[in-house]
Amino acid sequence: MGEPRTGVYPGTFDPVTNGHMDIISRATHVVDRLIIGVAVNAGKGPMFDVDERVEMVREQVAHMTSGDGQHIDVVPFDNLLMDFVNDLGAQLILRGLRAVSDFEYEFQMAGMNSRLNSEVETVFLMASERHQFIASRFVKEVALLGGDIGHFVPPLVQQRIVRRLGQPRHPARAVAGD
Ligand code: ADP
Repeated sequence: MGEPRTGVYPGTFDPVTNGHMDIISRATHVVDRLIIGVAVNAGKGPMFDVDERVEMVREQVAHMTSGDGQHIDVVPFDNLLMDFVNDLGAQLILRGLRAVSDFEYEFQMAGMNSRLNSEVETVFLMASERHQFIASRFVKEVALLGGDIGHFVPPLVQQRIVRRLGQPRHPARAVAGD
């Protein structure tokens, strides 16, 4: 019998999307214990501050459990990912991989992390075809322009985005009414 496997799924989650949720649900089958690390990443100028991003992920995983039947932890972090992973005693870093776009960045990050600690493996998971193309960045852009983001994010996240942006704008009308 091996030791329980702890995995960390790190990201910015600004905000959590159906793509992230797809990866999270796959990750629960891969590890005994799953910790979602929400990077503060203030430099990226996030739409939501870290506490809100943590809260949104928590809402979505509240009813999920990982391999050991325990709830999934959602923890903010502001330090080096490998230090965060070591402090948690985790053995795996989980990342999602979308078609070609993520490869270069993820490849470099996994390589650097393995030099920092070769005992921690990075495991890549792919979302289903229907969630492959979803990106937080585009969700925000679509929402900003008044488009329907209901297919891309969970309903509670959609509500928060709409609230954050005020009433959805209709660019054509906004121009006409100026
Ligand atoms: P980061 O700033 O670390 O890239 P993100 O929140 O954008 O944080 O993404 C976290 C992880 O989830 C990354 O590995 C990213 O590739 C993955 N991911 C995001 N959206 C999807 C998706 N639609 N399908 C698969 N993986 C995804």
